[in-house]
Amino acid sequence: MNLESCRHCGHRVPETATSCPSCGAHFGRPRGVDSGFHFLYWGLSYRRKFVRTLWLLSLSPILLLFPKVSVGHIQLVPVGFISTLVVGVAQLIYTYAMWKKLEG
Ligand SMILES: [Zn+2]
Repeated sequence: MNLESCRHCGHRVPETATSCPSCGAHFGRPRGVDSGFHFLYWGLSYRRKFVRTLWLLSLSPILLLFPKVSVGHIQLVPVGFISTLVVGVAQLIYTYAMWKKLEG
């Protein structure tokens, strides 16, 4: 196991550590899978989550191709599309903020 010095306190820490055990400083390393393909969203680093969310969001207009179905006066397709956009954008903002905070 290789050791390196903490930038903040000089304590010797393993290269793979995400934070210093002595002073608690974060090293800005991705905590999840950050390269290659990984199927499960929750195993990804925030950077990759951000990229995947962006991807899925760009595919969301496909929802508009579904046949029109309505419950009472509510058209399900546009409602589904708009709620996907709202949730997707909120998730983009969150993953971006966490990416910059923990990994940037
Ligand atoms: Zn330290």
